[in-house]
Amino acid sequence: MIKLEGITKSFGALQVLKGIDLEINKGEVVSIVGPSGAGKTTLLQIMGTLDEPDAGTVYINEANVSKMKEKGLSAFRNRHIGFVFQFHQLLPEFTALENIMIPALIAGVSSKEANTRAMEILNFMGLAERASHKPNELSGGEKQRVAVARALINNPSVILADEPSGSLDTHNKEELHQLFFDLRDRLGQTFVIVTHDEELAKITDRTVHMIDGMVNRS
Ligand code: ADP
Repeated sequence: MIKLEGITKSFGALQVLKGIDLEINKGEVVSIVGPSGAGKTTLLQIMGTLDEPDAGTVYINEANVSKMKEKGLSAFRNRHIGFVFQFHQLLPEFTALENIMIPALIAGVSSKEANTRAMEILNFMGLAERASHKPNELSGGEKQRVAVARALINNPSVILADEPSGSLDTHNKEELHQLFFDLRDRLGQTFVIVTHDEELAKITDRTVHMIDGMVNRS
């Protein structure tokens, strides 16, 4: 599903990724752990085509995304990859439903269809009664689940999450983690999750350890 070959990346004189090779299979839930500054977020951004490596190749769904031009790439990204960040990044002036619809509207889906899809996902998550609430009327856990719903609207094959439960309390954390596994089981999505959360790392199918810009295979 995702294949990285020989990925390197520097910021100025600092080499942050030192030749990463990694394969992630369809339907796998993989955690990426490691100390701060190890390059986890940079790797996730490159996997998600939000940043370019200096060298190396990224394949998603067998497509070589490193060869795509910006316009094709942004369409590919919007269609195939969903993102969840530590802070939900919902737009405050829109309702939960509208926030979830946005990536579908950007992809050219009609507003009627986007509305139907967004309601289906909210129903699946047990959040239907929150559809018309604005972000500041939702709890932290609900906001994060709405952010996951937004990541799902175009039915992407891959969800990339950067510290998705980092701002949540224990109960909401567990609920969010369970949601990832439910989605994988129901929809077959592949999840790559950068996390400091040892409880989450323990229950993922595989944990990738990063240290100093490298994947530690020991
Ligand atoms: P992690 O997620 O493991 O904490 P990051 O990938 O965020 O690591 O960062 C790795 C290193 O790269 C850090 O030293 C960070 O300061 C640096 N870095 C990340 N992004 C940038 C950037 N856009 N410009 C300069 N340095 C950066």
